[in-house]
Amino acid sequence: MSIRTTCPYCGVGCGVIAQSDAARGTVTISGDTTHPSNFGRLCSKGSALGQTLGMDGRLLHPEINGQRVSMEAALTHVAAGFNRIIAEHGSDAVALYVSGQLLTEDYYVANKLMKGFIGTANIDTNSRLCMSSAVAGHKRAFGEDVVPVCYEDLELADLIVLVGANAAWCHPVLFQRIAQAKQQRPKMKIVVVDPRRTVTCEIADLHVPVRSGSDVWLFNGLLAYLHEHGRVAKDFIANHTEGLDEALSVARESAGDVNRLAAVCGLDTERVLEFYRMFADHERVITAFSMGVNQSSAGTDKVNSIVNCHLLTGRIGQPGAGPFSITGQPNAMGGREVGGLANMLAAHLDLEDASHRELVQNFWRSPRIAERGGLKAVELFDAIHDGKVKAVWIMATNPVVSLPDADKVKEALRRCELVVVSDCFAGTDTNAHAHVLLPAAGWGEKDGTVTNSERRISRQRAFQALSGEARPDWWLICEVARRMGFDHGFNYDSVHEIFIEHAALSTWNNDGERAFDIGGLAKITSTEYDELAPIQWPVPGRNHPGTPRLLESGHFYRRNRRARFVPTATRAPEHRTDAEFPWVLNTGRIRDQWHTMTRTGRAPQLSAHLPEPYVDMHAQDALLAAVSDGQLARVETQWGALVARVKTSGEMPRGTIFVPIHWSGAVASDARVGALVNPVVDPVSGEPEFKHTPARVTPFPVNWHGFVLTRAPIQKLDAVWWTAIRGAQFMRYEIAGRGHAPGSTWARQALQAIHPDMDWVEFSDPACGVFRGALLVEERLEGCAFISPRSDLPSRTWLSSLFAKKRIGNVDRVSLLNGGPPSSAEDPGPLVCSCFGVGRTTLCKAIAQDQLKTPQEVGRKLKAGTNCGSCLPEIRQLLLK
Ligand code: SF4
Repeated sequence: MSIRTTCPYCGVGCGVIAQSDAARGTVTISGDTTHPSNFGRLCSKGSALGQTLGMDGRLLHPEINGQRVSMEAALTHVAAGFNRIIAEHGSDAVALYVSGQLLTEDYYVANKLMKGFIGTANIDTNSRLCMSSAVAGHKRAFGEDVVPVCYEDLELADLIVLVGANAAWCHPVLFQRIAQAKQQRPKMKIVVVDPRRTVTCEIADLHVPVRSGSDVWLFNGLLAYLHEHGRVAKDFIANHTEGLDEALSVARESAGDVNRLAAVCGLDTERVLEFYRMFADHERVITAFSMGVNQSSAGTDKVNSIVNCHLLTGRIGQPGAGPFSITGQPNAMGGREVGGLANMLAAHLDLEDASHRELVQNFWRSPRIAERGGLKAVELFDAIHDGKVKAVWIMATNPVVSLPDADKVKEALRRCELVVVSDCFAGTDTNAHAHVLLPAAGWGEKDGTVTNSERRISRQRAFQALSGEARPDWWLICEVARRMGFDHGFNYDSVHEIFIEHAALSTWNNDGERAFDIGGLAKITSTEYDELAPIQWPVPGRNHPGTPRLLESGHFYRRNRRARFVPTATRAPEHRTDAEFPWVLNTGRIRDQWHTMTRTGRAPQLSAHLPEPYVDMHAQDALLAAVSDGQLARVETQWGALVARVKTSGEMPRGTIFVPIHWSGAVASDARVGALVNPVVDPVSGEPEFKHTPARVTPFPVNWHGFVLTRAPIQKLDAVWWTAIRGAQFMRYEIAGRGHAPGSTWARQALQAIHPDMDWVEFSDPACGVFRGALLVEERLEGCAFISPRSDLPSRTWLSSLFAKKRIGNVDRVSLLNGGPPSSAEDPGPLVCSCFGVGRTTLCKAIAQDQLKTPQEVGRKLKAGTNCGSCLPEIRQLLLK
């Protein structure tokens, strides 16, 4: 059976074909060549989706206080708990915290329950953490949260400015589309504005390593420069905008002259001017921005400072031109459409507007409607901590890992009277605090729609039966709503019924005043819904083809139909570095992992690329901190601490360190970076400052290092630091400890070396603290352990490959305790290409021996980079060496 569906990870929203083979129990994943967002491409995460399916680690049954119960008992318990707390403390004492992973239909009923029936706007989403600044910026400038641009515009642009967006790793298929367009049209220019020199810079003509937090200076300066140099769309400004004079005067005053702003931005003046000239000299300019812009205490102003430059030049709503917010999550946009944020109403209607509230209440025929904005994510967990919110239902997200000041979030949940968590997976950090666990349907089991960064609505379709007692989120919400006594609003028999209601609301009393109008889909039949092809909103009429580009007519969505230049006064981040915390902590994603690894961490293909939590820093800063590449270090802020491996990749500027967001308490002893992030938020959007927390780095002294590879998971690790990584047919544990290095007894216990047919081989030098042991059962490798006082232990790649062998032959056996391959074979080295398992050593050797010059030549020789292409930027880097 072959089903067209959509990737559940990033906001690119790639079309996927899932081919299930029921007899073999396998699912093969490929890119959908007909999907207009990716045309068949998938990145490493999308390609490995098949490895994330399966029962292992799934939450399959409801639980109350750790005991399995019936679904009926669990739903009744949740409904009764919410009703009791509302009766005792009012509707603002309960909350939902949902997710950009939910499908639009899930989101719609969750929002309807809270705002229309319970009567509180205390529903917020983890999308608050990634794109709420873009939403606020769009609303301030355009009057509505509209993204004017489509992906095709990226291919039509003459200049793409990527701001705070490591697209090569975070939106890889978009990056590939841009890279291909540049290859075909070498005149196209790319500027990357980012403190880090990320792999995205591999295709850049200019890298602008702006100092963290100074983007508003840079774009205010650009606005003033464009005005001075006559790049002013006078007619467009006169006919379609307002507020230029004030915005310009604030920009001039706060940015100062170019020398001053260059100094604030940590740049040399000539580089700033080069960027300004490039922007001025190209008509078709896209400024694509992502988390580096949004996740800031000045995120909304950053967005508006960018939008102002496009309004001044009239480069908006035109082919190949406009500001472009690239969303992080698969359905961040869908959530915005149904009012999934605490300060929004459904269908892009405004919670602050009484006529909009009335419209929605009438449409829903709901007993009440929330009358004011609810608590935004950080405020919400503060209110739980302070006992003001007493019941929370968390859906499809892991806030104990992902929110700022995450230890406080943990404490908040510990104090909360009723914590309900619905998730696909057991064993998440947040589940550990749940009183009630509800098993949710996972990708492949769920049915509904998602909207990607270019406003394209695509179907996510089920191709597997529901696992255990798992149910779709919309079903769980409706069942709880009914048990709370809200019968008439939640009697849906199918996800199609929810979708057409959502579509009908979008067009209700909408005379073109609201951009979000999918009324053309309000009467589609169930079969048409099942077959719905990807389509970009607005879709205002039946058989309407969708709308690739918005704002083409210069018609905006404010009351006077004009766009607004928003004055963006500069301000420094609230927390500054000082002698105690001298570095700025920046956080973000890595290439092969998604969020808190609950899904991608299950795919061996994805775990080998960057297997450990790390802190990347400039080599000179590392020297000052007395740490070096490969050592463990403690990273500490005013809010928390973690331990990670030091890396000096060369990407970091002086003064800034980077830690990935993905590691949780479930996969590492001490690596939740959320615990370190300051909880300051943008005053307009409420988005937290994930890119700027003052931090210090100190050595984390250990006496020994080691790793264990084992088929049977280890239940308890006796080490001061550890991380667990899933391999193909084995688990890998990286460990480090203090005191005497463990030896044979420890290793035998860890590897459960108690099998009657076992063959145990070891080398031990207790005086030097060195131990190496391997367990073979019937000539098959069951596990091995390597301990040393030094961190430069043998490569794990070759040893890992032995787990695929049914039998360890004599040649391999001799090399086993060396930890390296026999001389005739080759250790591939650290993984670069996830799809074909090609390592750095293999690549470097082939490049040198065969004098390979291009990624295409590398691909022909080793296949590396020829499937998803996510590793191409790294291959290009190796070719340059
Ligand atoms: Fe999924 Fe990768 Fe496409 Fe994002 S770029 S939607 S993660 S396949």
